[in-house]
Amino acid sequence: MSLFTTSFIDFFLPRECISCSRKLTYEEESICEKCYSQIKYAGLSFLDSEFEKKFQKDSLIKDFLSLFIFEEESPVRSLLHGLKYQNRFRIGNFLGKILAANFEDKINNWNPDLIIPIPLHKLKKAERGYNQSYYIAKGLGKRIGIPVKTNVIIRNKFTSTQTKLNAENRKENIRNAFSVIKEKDIIGKNIILLDDVITTGATVSECSKTLKKFRTGNIYALSVGIADYVNT
Ligand SMILES: [Zn+2]
Repeated sequence: MSLFTTSFIDFFLPRECISCSRKLTYEEESICEKCYSQIKYAGLSFLDSEFEKKFQKDSLIKDFLSLFIFEEESPVRSLLHGLKYQNRFRIGNFLGKILAANFEDKINNWNPDLIIPIPLHKLKKAERGYNQSYYIAKGLGKRIGIPVKTNVIIRNKFTSTQTKLNAENRKENIRNAFSVIKEKDIIGKNIILLDDVITTGATVSECSKTLKKFRTGNIYALSVGIADYVNT
C-alpha cells in the first residue's frame, strides 16, 4: 500500500495494533513489532512430531505446515479473532503474506495447483458475513501465484463449536460435514487446504477425505496457528 493510502486510511480509521491497541507506525501492519515479537513459531521438528500424531495414520494429508503456536494469551489469538469477528479483513492479507514469506519454498515443493479455504456452513457464513480463511488464502495465493477456489467444496453440516470436544469426538462431530460440488476442478489436482487454526486435524482430514473421492492429487494442510488440545 502506498504511503498516501496508508495516511489516508489512518486519518479516518486510525491503524491500531490488534493486540495492544497502540497506534501502528507506517511500517507496521495489523500488529505492532513488540506484540509480534512475543509470538512463538511452531518450528519444524515440532511440526514433524505433530504430523505423526495428527495425520500419519490416516494418510489423508500428505504434509502440513503451521506457522505459529496458538495459545489463549498469545497475540496470534488477537490477530485471528480480529479477522474472524471484527471485520478486520486486512489481517487476512497480512497473515497470507507472512505465510508466504516463511513457507514459500516448502509450499512450492508441494507443487500445488490450488488453495481451498476450509468452507464454513452457510448459516455460520451468513452470521459472520464472510469466511476468515478465505482472506488468508487470498493473501497467500496472490504472493505465491496459486489460485484460490471457494466454490468447489461446501460444508453442509452445521457443527457446534468443537472447543470442548476431545480428538475422537471432534472426528465424529465433523464426519460427513462436506460435499464436493464442482468435481471437475479438483480431479488430478494437488490441493492446499487452508485453515486459520489446526487443533486435532479432524477438520482438514475430513475435508481431504471428501475431496479424495474425486481422484485428486496430493492434499496438503496449511494453517496460521496450531493449537494444543487436551487428549483424553
Ligand atoms: Zn501491540
